[in-house]
Amino acid sequence: MVRPSAVPEAATPLSAELFARASKSIPGGVNSPVRAFSAVGGTPRFIAEAHGATLIDVDGHRYVDLVCSWGPMILGHAHPAVVEAVRSAATRGLSFGAPTEAEIALAEAIIGRVEPVERVRLVNSGTEATMSAVRLARGATGRSKIIKFAGCYHGHVDALLADAGSGVATLGLPTSPGVTGAAAHDTLVLPYNDLDAVAKAFELHPGEIAAVITEAAAGNMGAVAPRPGFNAGLRELTSRHGALLIMDEVMTGFRVSGAGYYGLDPVAGDLYTFGKVMSGGLPAAAFGGRADVMDHLAPVGPVYQAGTLSGNPVAVAAGLATLAHATDDVYATLDANSLRLQGLLTDALSAAGVAHRVQSAGNMFSVFFTDATDPIVDYAGVKATQTWRFAPFFHALLAGGVYAPPSAFEAWFVSTALDDEAFARITEALPAAAAAAAAAQAPEQGAK
Ligand SMILES: *Cc1c(COP(=O)(O)O)cnc(C)c1O
Repeated sequence: MVRPSAVPEAATPLSAELFARASKSIPGGVNSPVRAFSAVGGTPRFIAEAHGATLIDVDGHRYVDLVCSWGPMILGHAHPAVVEAVRSAATRGLSFGAPTEAEIALAEAIIGRVEPVERVRLVNSGTEATMSAVRLARGATGRSKIIKFAGCYHGHVDALLADAGSGVATLGLPTSPGVTGAAAHDTLVLPYNDLDAVAKAFELHPGEIAAVITEAAAGNMGAVAPRPGFNAGLRELTSRHGALLIMDEVMTGFRVSGAGYYGLDPVAGDLYTFGKVMSGGLPAAAFGGRADVMDHLAPVGPVYQAGTLSGNPVAVAAGLATLAHATDDVYATLDANSLRLQGLLTDALSAAGVAHRVQSAGNMFSVFFTDATDPIVDYAGVKATQTWRFAPFFHALLAGGVYAPPSAFEAWFVSTALDDEAFARITEALPAAAAAAAAAQAPEQGAK
């Protein structure tokens, strides 16, 4: 078997050329910031095609994909059944602006898998899902304030960007210019996994808090699972104070189990948001929840929400085909692949003497470089890790043909397409990556 050995930066002239060209027409050369490799440096790889677990860049290099389009591709890239469903739907028309039967099937598939969800509305992105869920929670309760947790990312909704994870964390932004004081005013940002802080906020703002929004398990500051009882505690506090609990399962939904994180930690939210896996790599997302809350939405109720392309037949076909193939066997394989990969990472880093923790939330996980022996439970803990070890680690993996998430603040994602050859490639690439992490120097005195 021929495995291209190394992929040095110098060997990616076409990506470099495209990045330079892109930067003239697209801000930063990318349509979503983390793709620009800002945190790790170097040339983002422009992808020509992808099959199974393999990304192929425009220079012809092959990479084992451990990002999976940031989660959606649980079945691997260009899965024949999903591609066929998309092709077949496309030949029947791309968009109608009128209802279709397949939308009902997708809503029913989601309702059938996540018990607390009784009604679903389809939207086009996770951002739209959380934005709509927050508006609905405010409309249904007649209250204004929202609690979110530092390091959780709920898309680039104005009111939810404060202390957000994902690219906001990667770029070290407290929030974003352009978010007005008015938009942020009603957002209370609290430390993740801290129920006392939530209880205090409810005492301080009686009758004012519409909802608590949380990632069912945090994945956007890296994988940080809720402590046992944290989600249940949020359920108890929100119920007691007449607020709604919004479980953001855009990342975890239909990835960590057939019922998402709810399948692992069955705490019922009032509202849910989904995206990523549920649309199989095409742009669609959803929010849903209790019928009596969802029925505040127009045209039944007064809370307005709409979308020209919502329920798009091609995106719905990709989602339905993906969920139809996401069987118990698929989840068993994802879990096994995740554990196998975590084991390889732990072994390689331990062998190189690199202090680290591999933390998981279901089959999502992250590698944190740290001497700490206790689990990392919040954003402050994540920020205190030795993130400067990440860039050399990442680039050594990339040079070895392994595409890890290009930020220390992101989760790693597996697919069912990871086979023995993919694991062999990872195993070969890891010693050099671990050595690079070991050799990394802290950027300044006093930095950890
Ligand atoms: C990705 C993500 C979003 C945003 O979804 P987009 O489709 O990128 O707008 C929201 N919440 C969580 C938890 C996510 O992981």
